[in-house]
Amino acid sequence: MKRTLFLLFFICNILIVQAQKVVEPSAEKHPEWSRPFPPFQIAGNLYYVGTADLACYLITTSGGNILINTGLASSETQIIANIKALGFRITDTKILLTTQAHFDHMGAMAAIKKVTKAKMMADEGDAAVVADGGLSDYDLKGDVRTFTPVKVDRILHNGDSITLGNMKLTLLHHPGHTKGSCSYLFDVKDNKRSYRALIANMPTIVTDKKFSAIPSYPGIANDYAYTLKAMKGLKFDIWLASHGSQFDLLGKHKPGSPYNPAAFADEKSYYDEIAELQAEYDKKIAAK
Ligand SMILES: [Zn+2]
Repeated sequence: MKRTLFLLFFICNILIVQAQKVVEPSAEKHPEWSRPFPPFQIAGNLYYVGTADLACYLITTSGGNILINTGLASSETQIIANIKALGFRITDTKILLTTQAHFDHMGAMAAIKKVTKAKMMADEGDAAVVADGGLSDYDLKGDVRTFTPVKVDRILHNGDSITLGNMKLTLLHHPGHTKGSCSYLFDVKDNKRSYRALIANMPTIVTDKKFSAIPSYPGIANDYAYTLKAMKGLKFDIWLASHGSQFDLLGKHKPGSPYNPAAFADEKSYYDEIAELQAEYDKKIAAK
């Protein structure tokens, strides 16, 4: 009996250790995810500090800075170097946000939170996944974490304001890609004018399964429908996204080219892409 109990205890411990391990999925097929990209000023107090494809944004304010997304775990050094190259200090980061709780945007979040002691704010639908390192993700659901867990200091709901210094961002709950995928809408200013900036989380479909075959996310079909509708109605002056490829970063900004917010203004490409995603969604729904 004693022996059986001991064995049981031993197995449980192995399972717990296994569940706590962080195994980042391979990014081998996406070399652009890790490729460095020179940081630059997008518009006013909004800067690009990510890799060639994993978009990370720094918003500077009179009360410290806001960092949105952190790429892979290995992106940490690039992001910190990019912020420094722009003349800012990583330690001035006060708020951390993400557009979705996937490892390619959350990878370096825990490390950067440790360095900055900034507050992590997460959409209500993704808060649990942020806190457990992807363990409870509806699609990647496995027995290992895909990124280091991050303590959530504030849970955000649709329409919530995130304020810091002279800045106010509005969170737009855009679930589907993850349960708490979200976009951010805010105004940035340069010495000529202000720009309404949209950082959009495009509702691409992650799962190969039928929506009806995902018991861990029963509302997935309705969430995508809601998000597609909500995203069609958005008005903005410039738009960006979670991946550079989604808004053609490499086409719109050549490294070293001069300051040009207008490069990110083409709203047609945004609405075209949303229409394409709507068509993909409709096809998936029709195929059931
Ligand atoms: Zn994703």
